[in-house]
Amino acid sequence: MTSQHNRKPARSTRIAQALRFVDEETGAVVPPIQPAATYARDENYDIRQPYWYRRDGNQTTAHAEAIIAELEEATESLLFASGMSAATAVIDHLPAGAHVVIPRVMYHGVLAQFQKYHAQKRLEISYYGAGNLDELAAATRNGETQLVWVETPNNPEWDVTDIAAAAQIAHDAGALLLTDCTGTPPCSTRALNFGADISFHSATKYLNGHSDITAGVLSIREVAPFWEDIARVRNLQGTVLHSFDAWLLIRGMRTLFLRVEKATANALAIARHFENHPALEAVLYPGLPSHPGHAVARRQTDGQFGGMMSIIVKGSEQTAIDVTRFCELFYPATSLGGVESLVEHRKTVSGPNFPVHPRLLRLSIGIEDADDLIYDLEQALARANQQA
Ligand SMILES: *Cc1c(COP(=O)(O)O)cnc(C)c1O
Repeated sequence: MTSQHNRKPARSTRIAQALRFVDEETGAVVPPIQPAATYARDENYDIRQPYWYRRDGNQTTAHAEAIIAELEEATESLLFASGMSAATAVIDHLPAGAHVVIPRVMYHGVLAQFQKYHAQKRLEISYYGAGNLDELAAATRNGETQLVWVETPNNPEWDVTDIAAAAQIAHDAGALLLTDCTGTPPCSTRALNFGADISFHSATKYLNGHSDITAGVLSIREVAPFWEDIARVRNLQGTVLHSFDAWLLIRGMRTLFLRVEKATANALAIARHFENHPALEAVLYPGLPSHPGHAVARRQTDGQFGGMMSIIVKGSEQTAIDVTRFCELFYPATSLGGVESLVEHRKTVSGPNFPVHPRLLRLSIGIEDADDLIYDLEQALARANQQA
């Protein structure tokens, strides 16, 4: 056996201990919250390093960033006040007229932001079908494309994209690859190790895990000029994560491995139970061997497929909406990655112009008892079908 002295602690150990935090003065095993907006200069009127004003971040936010960097095996991470502000910083740092390649269907807020920049003639967009590498390659322009955006697993049908193959395509064209793997956080998918240049996560979701903050994070493999530009956008837009929220995020991340393991086990049990169910047309979950992205998802997640799935209900659009109304344990709410299970009629939420199946329900599976969740969906489906 390796002696304790030589053994490098696993990531799960490091994250559970918030990177082995101990307060030097008191021995406290929980970090404090540092809320200061400004910092006094020293006796020579020089700025004390590294902080001087809140928009550049502070100790609490930096501690949360260090934890995520370790999770991602990243060089650096930057935390923002929401996933959308992190995504916007990436979009905003691109030069005027830049060409980007993005999925036709993806997280609706990010898509809307790209399309707004396009309408203002600040960006050129080419689209590909999520998970379709041939379409991705065809949409990418050699020496012209600056950014390829991959969401995997992809909202709301959970198509899986091979990150290594997408990185090859992006890099051959001279573009950066950004991955949004919010559905499988870095205890599961470490996108940088598959060749992504920027790993994006809405930390509102699994990383925090308790539905009590919004946060977004970007992580990189190597520091490059684009990273400085993105950090400048965060500073000038004032979108750094707040200290109190950073503290909640640190607290939440300590149980990340445990939560994702349980959510995955629950989701697998639910997917297996409802696959081929007479009231359902489809169960979309990459953890099922019948899912077209299963093999790639297994490789990219180490078998930790996460808790995100969708079901397509038989009947009418109203039948699908009724299922959300009749659930007694699943909350009829948006968002994902919390300890509590959520059900959402995606078409209602993403608006009439968004191409989503009208009978699709998105489920975020939490850490409750799997049999309770199965029972709840069974009774809601039965009641919705009686109604029809
Ligand atoms: C939630 C989410 C976002 C946006 O993040 P916010 O924290 O809500 O701003 C982006 N991408 C995916 C896949 C998400 O689930």
